[in-house]
Amino acid sequence: MQLSVVVPCYNEEAMIVLFYQETQKELQKLNINYELIFVDDGSIDGSLSLLKNLNKKDNTIKIISFSRNFGKEAAMLAGLEKASGDYVVIMDADLQNPPHLLKDMLIILKTNEYDCVAAYRKSRGHESIFKSIFSKLFYKIANLMTDIKMAEGVSDYRMMNQSVVKSLLSMKEYHRFTKGMFAWVGYKTKYLTYDNVNRQAGRTKWSIIGLFKYAFSGIISFTILPLRIAIFLGLLTILTGLIYTIIVIINGNVVSGSIIISMLLFLGGCQLLVLGIIGEYLGRTYYETKRRPHYIIKEYISYDK
Ligand code: UDP
Ligand code: MG
Repeated sequence: MQLSVVVPCYNEEAMIVLFYQETQKELQKLNINYELIFVDDGSIDGSLSLLKNLNKKDNTIKIISFSRNFGKEAAMLAGLEKASGDYVVIMDADLQNPPHLLKDMLIILKTNEYDCVAAYRKSRGHESIFKSIFSKLFYKIANLMTDIKMAEGVSDYRMMNQSVVKSLLSMKEYHRFTKGMFAWVGYKTKYLTYDNVNRQAGRTKWSIIGLFKYAFSGIISFTILPLRIAIFLGLLTILTGLIYTIIVIINGNVVSGSIIISMLLFLGGCQLLVLGIIGEYLGRTYYETKRRPHYIIKEYISYDK
């Protein structure tokens, strides 16, 4: 029986050693063989050399180092591909995913009643109001627009068995949105809650624009509903046109020049909007057809040296 811990790291020099100490303490309590797979996502600080130092001292550590920053999704994918344990858990390197939950997660999985244990934040701590509102709105919209149902506040902090890992890896898409993919593959999932933990050092890699793009991309990955909106918009325009024609027939010509201009702008805007949505999906199809690798590994350091 083995547990693989996948840890994506990007510029985490301030947290890596602390993370390692805290997590290892919990892992040792579990009575299970374990491996720690750190994925260095092209860090430009001292993260990689810190990891290499740890690797020299501890033979449970493997390091995958990317040639540049490919993003957390790619880092998680690389970690999952290398994770050979019967159980696999994904954890952030900043201790915002409390390691003390590992014990409960493992106990639940070992009963074989569940395939996956997911942790979600029941409080949002010192997070900005804007981020909280944005996040709430995201889950509402995503659950409304897509077929998959995501629990609000759910994180990537999950422990799963190999069947779930294999299913996730069988999804080869280029634009990965792991939170949605977990929901898509199904399996019996148990949810555990935890209080939000603030980052002790280092800083979040997410800007507001970055989060916005990620959310938009996540929704687009799981639905083509925005494309269908064009059909409704078209039907609505035809209906308005018909009603207006009837009014004109009854009342005579009542159109002023300015109404024509505003209608032109409105319809032009609608057409560009729909064209943009089509373009977004087309662009994604373009990226998918290129079949580029999700990441490039520059260095892989395993413990069986
Ligand atoms: N991360 C990564 N690649 C990136 C951005 C982030 O591997 O391009 C890692 C990061 O090192 C951390 C985890 O993903 O371990 C979560 O990132 P962060 O703490 O910045 O996100 P937040 O907790 O603010 O949502
Ligand atoms: Mg964090």
